[in-house]
Amino acid sequence: MGGSQGKDRAVGLLGYLRAGCSSWCYHRLWAWLWASPKSLKLCLVPLTAMGEPSMDPTISADSTAQQDSLFSMTDVFLISLITGLFTYWFFFRKKKEEVPDLPKMQTVAAPVRDSSFIEKMKKTGRNIVVFYGSQTGTAEEFANRLSKDAHRYGLRGMAADPEEYDLSDLSRLSEIDKSLAVFCMATYGEGDPTDNAQDFYDWLQEADADLSGLRFAVFGLGNKTYEHFNAMGKYVDKRLEELGAQRIFELGLGDDDGNLEEDFITWREQFWPAVCEHFGVEATGEESSIRQYELVVHTDVNMNKVYTGEMGRLKSYENQKPPFDAKNPFLAQVTENRKLNEGGERHLMHLELDISNSKIRYESGDHVAVYPANDSSLVNQIGEILGTDLDTVMSLNNLDEESNKKHPFPCPTSYRTALTYYLDITNPPRTNVLYELAQYATDAGEQERLRKMASSAAEGKALYLSWVVEARRNILAILQDMPSLRPPIDHLCELLPRLQARYYSIASSSKVHPNSIHICAVTVEYETKTGRLNKGVATNWLKSKVPQQGGSSCLVPMYVRKSQFRLPFKPSTPVIMIGPGTGIAPFIGFIQERAWLKQQGKEVGETVLYYGCRHEREDYLYREELARFQKEGVLTQLNVAFSRDQAEKVYVQHLLKKNKENIWKLVNEGMAHIYVCGDARNMARDVQNTFYEIVSEFGSMSQPQAVDYVKKLMTKGRYS
Ligand code: NDP
Repeated sequence: MGGSQGKDRAVGLLGYLRAGCSSWCYHRLWAWLWASPKSLKLCLVPLTAMGEPSMDPTISADSTAQQDSLFSMTDVFLISLITGLFTYWFFFRKKKEEVPDLPKMQTVAAPVRDSSFIEKMKKTGRNIVVFYGSQTGTAEEFANRLSKDAHRYGLRGMAADPEEYDLSDLSRLSEIDKSLAVFCMATYGEGDPTDNAQDFYDWLQEADADLSGLRFAVFGLGNKTYEHFNAMGKYVDKRLEELGAQRIFELGLGDDDGNLEEDFITWREQFWPAVCEHFGVEATGEESSIRQYELVVHTDVNMNKVYTGEMGRLKSYENQKPPFDAKNPFLAQVTENRKLNEGGERHLMHLELDISNSKIRYESGDHVAVYPANDSSLVNQIGEILGTDLDTVMSLNNLDEESNKKHPFPCPTSYRTALTYYLDITNPPRTNVLYELAQYATDAGEQERLRKMASSAAEGKALYLSWVVEARRNILAILQDMPSLRPPIDHLCELLPRLQARYYSIASSSKVHPNSIHICAVTVEYETKTGRLNKGVATNWLKSKVPQQGGSSCLVPMYVRKSQFRLPFKPSTPVIMIGPGTGIAPFIGFIQERAWLKQQGKEVGETVLYYGCRHEREDYLYREELARFQKEGVLTQLNVAFSRDQAEKVYVQHLLKKNKENIWKLVNEGMAHIYVCGDARNMARDVQNTFYEIVSEFGSMSQPQAVDYVKKLMTKGRYS
């Protein structure tokens, strides 16, 4: 831009101010002045390109004399002011960039943003890329295992997050010799991709790329109790083929309701021979027990640089900054934690998390994710059994310098913090963990048992199933029951999976409670086959968050996850909600919202609840609230099934059947939306079957037609 043009623009802008420009121009000018340098650049273009004269007819472009006369002392002052502001912004921003918040060591998995995985593979000599669509970390774990396996066959693998790369590069993978793309794809919610696979999924849907040189294989992670079992795995497998890619091994479908680990190892044991056959390679006989991270113990460390449980940015819990998400959770104060049941052995609870000043927004039906901490007694016992000083400060640094993941969890940190906040120490370990640990068992029998359980032989699988999975042995129980197994703690920390956030359906409406999020949960506690008492990590940790005790112990790191579980767009649409036990949680939010809408004078349709509990006098959750909603006329039907108050079981589906005519009327004539929440394995399935029966009877349909009818309701978002 020439100097004169610059001057003209300044004069013109001042002219706007003088002549009293339209409010659009005025605001635009102020936006321009106050914007950050980045948005300044954006604003400059339209102002210059559009040309000022056309923006306001009161400013005449051809009147140079008039413009010159406008160029008074005030103008000089204003120009100086603008220039001053520019300079200030420029240097202010620059200064910020020059002082990074954290030195390189402290950034968690700081991604080296090279979006071409092909270039990276070429640079690091890899032939196999294993992409993962992972929500809870399992698909990522499987991808890591597969990429590690590759070296047994003289190949080199790399696990990759699709979110970090440009997947359109898949068409170029054939540039690499013996190249293969593997996809470990988890399905989330109602057949959705995981967050990190969303862009890849969108690209696949729209792409018309020619992937004819691409060789691929897919392993899906799903759960049979859900309607859209492994939808993502199936889609990726089908779509890649449609785009011309060559499938070198059949799709694997892992079922988390059964034994996902076994499904994976069974698939893997056939997958590698297929790879060998395809590429004409053989197993080198070298079993992979290679460390991925090296231990660095910090003896003289500034404790301000040590992670104490943060998920992303160091000190983020002391210096909270929105926006809050999975990497930057908000520390919410628990303001209420009350027991909901009046008897029985269980502990059902209602918690309220204060989200004031967090800028967190939520809608009824969303989920709140909380990051729990492991039980300190379990952590201490692991420290003791391995003879470790848990307060040692260390880092585990990736030996592969090219990897985007520098550490398995935020480092530097202490073993105590890692075992408390970052690692899953309560789930039964997967077979790869047992395999790696076996080398540390000094007793031959124990070593053999560990190796056997990690093998793909039928006998080994059966032993793993009974000794680890069914006996619910966690890592501590394994160490206790194998006295010769004493691995170094740093290797154990490398092997254990990350502790995951736990999701709860939000039990409140933001219309009524904009500053708090409510949770309804039941503590998990059970005795294992070996006589140990296993306690659910998150529910027992939540139970201990009692506000009267105050202080930091009552803080819960959390964020909100959007869901598809939504009230109908029109409040007048009827809703049928079915939620026994703690499955009532989202419906408390729904009913609160409908009550609020009614108060606003909106026409609110029928609001029908089917709730179930064991005993009327013991675990009838939110009894008073529900009665009040019914009295106010918001809850138009309250049907409660008490399963254990009589000899015969009475469940929600029995009440649905009893009211079948009314149900059919609401669905068929009222276009009601149906919602089911709670135990997906049995209750949700039984309820669905009941709907088939009702539809079949009243809609005069055959069973397959009724199934189709309900499926259509699901597709239309009327059955969630
Ligand atoms: P309960 O064990 O208290 O059960 C609630 C009621 O459901 C009891 O009366 C029980 O009867 C009855 N029931 C048992 N089997 C069936 C069946 N096949 N059909 C209908 N009713 C049945 O429930 P909890 O609250 O302890 O647990 C509910 C489940 O829902 C948990 O697995 C929890 O994780 C899940 N949940 C899921 C949510 C979500 O996905 N967003 C939200 C909240 C909970 P009886 O025991 O006498 O047989």
